[in-house]
Amino acid sequence: MNNCIEITDKYYMPVFNRYPLVLDYGQGCYVYDTNGRKYLDFLAGIAVNIVGHAHPKLVEAISQQAGKMIHCSNLYYTAVQTRLVERLANSSGMDRVFLANSGAEGNEGAIKLARKYAKKISPDKVEIITANHSFHGRTLATLMATAQPKYQQGFEPLPQGFSYVPYNDIKALADKISDRTCAVMLEAIQGEGGIHVPDGQYLAAVRELCDRYGALLIFDEIQCGMARTGKMFGYQLFNVKPDIITLAKGLGGGVPIGAFLATEQVAAAFSPGDHGSTFGGNPLACAAANAVFDVIEQENLLEHVQEVSSYFIAKLQSMQEKYPKLIQEVRGKGLMVGIELSVPGKDIVTGCLEQGLIINCTANTVLRLVPPLVVQRQQIDEMLNVLDSVLESR
Ligand SMILES: *Cc1c(COP(=O)(O)O)cnc(C)c1O
Repeated sequence: MNNCIEITDKYYMPVFNRYPLVLDYGQGCYVYDTNGRKYLDFLAGIAVNIVGHAHPKLVEAISQQAGKMIHCSNLYYTAVQTRLVERLANSSGMDRVFLANSGAEGNEGAIKLARKYAKKISPDKVEIITANHSFHGRTLATLMATAQPKYQQGFEPLPQGFSYVPYNDIKALADKISDRTCAVMLEAIQGEGGIHVPDGQYLAAVRELCDRYGALLIFDEIQCGMARTGKMFGYQLFNVKPDIITLAKGLGGGVPIGAFLATEQVAAAFSPGDHGSTFGGNPLACAAANAVFDVIEQENLLEHVQEVSSYFIAKLQSMQEKYPKLIQEVRGKGLMVGIELSVPGKDIVTGCLEQGLIINCTANTVLRLVPPLVVQRQQIDEMLNVLDSVLESR
């Protein structure tokens, strides 16, 4: 189909600014367009394809499960769901799991659980505090959790009970938090907002404030979780234990799945009928997520990420020395890396695409690099060569 672009743009709701690229298939860290042109993929569907494209273990698991059963309802049990919830609990230290279909849905469920829990303490303990430049999703409640006015405007009347503080500013949170605070919800590393890593002690100090005011701590691990940072979950970099965590993106390696996990004490606020989902936890998505866990374990992805990350970040820092006017800062953990530019990043993203490299720009001036976790040094070199040549030609 060679008029894909025109037809999609005619019928699809006008909400996306897409690049004029029609993708056909992928293999490992590469994707191919319909003309057979090859691109190195350092975006991975926005931190989703963590085991790369068409990983044989993932393909095999999905194919097998599709041949057995794609969907049944949560009125029954399946062994593939059993395996996944046990793994999620064991790897996170949480006691209870709910499976949803996307990140926003995971966060929406987490917000509902936090509200239900806090209501038992006091009926006006409803306030949820999130951080400026956060991103938590596009449903009405998660839009309110997303402290970026541009996403909220035009959708009034909006759900109540959300307030915002600057990220990584413990004093601001200390001023805002009160007995009315139901939960504080944060990304352990902010993704969409521009790859912001908090100071070493910030999240521990947030935990202390939450404990003092009886507020729950929710970590949105949708982007920074699932081995992305070289730890299974981003908050594990900071030795802090939350009450609720949410997952999606990398969890299914590309098959839509989301989750929220909680401690027993918090999860006990839910009773039958309080939450649910038709598709959530379906056998196909669970098989995919189990395959992703298998690959993380069998291919030692945690160690691998730590190893290639040091190489990658060191090389990017040398590039910053080469282009001190253009590159203001290189930051991130593991394979969640941002390059803060002194100019908007849009043209650089386009320049890279023309040379066969897919990256993305977020928060206007931050190049976001979130490749598949199976990326090798050789592909990092390939990426650096393209970026160097694009920056050079500016
Ligand atoms: C992408 C993202 C979401 C939203 O996930 P969807 O699957 O698009 O609903 C929420 N939180 C964070 C941190 C994200 O990166």
